[in-house]
Amino acid sequence: MQLVQPFKRVERRLAGSRVPRTTAANSKRMGRVRQHGTSPELAARRIASSVGLRYLLCNSDLPRRPDLANRSRRIAVFVHGCFWHRHPHCPRSTVPKSNVAYWNETVLRNVARDRRGIATLRRRGFTVVVIWECELSVTACVARRLERVAFDSGR
Ligand SMILES: [Zn+2]
Repeated sequence: MQLVQPFKRVERRLAGSRVPRTTAANSKRMGRVRQHGTSPELAARRIASSVGLRYLLCNSDLPRRPDLANRSRRIAVFVHGCFWHRHPHCPRSTVPKSNVAYWNETVLRNVARDRRGIATLRRRGFTVVVIWECELSVTACVARRLERVAFDSGR
């Protein structure tokens, strides 16, 4: 089964026991990974910092718990795994060939929650930025988007 590994708590919870937890290669790699945050989240934080966007990481009081949020500027940033949040038209979001119904149901339920959470945040006056995992390979594009949002919120 070709499946993108879950990288966030919410994704690991969704995956449950369906995604193999460790392989020899994984545990070797995990040994080098720091305890806090995973690489897509860390990449997003680095970019946010580089454009001068200050943020908090503990946002469990906000809908869908944004990965980064700035309350005074009302900015909420989500770093979404392409599979678990179904990035439209992205090759990383394709459903595995076995257990199609299970994966569709699980992921679509997650996507519906995302949509509701984002709508609630916008109603509360937040600018919501969704950064897809695959976009983080082009740092400059993500930086430009965050920079624009940070700039707009400052006026
Ligand atoms: Zn993607």
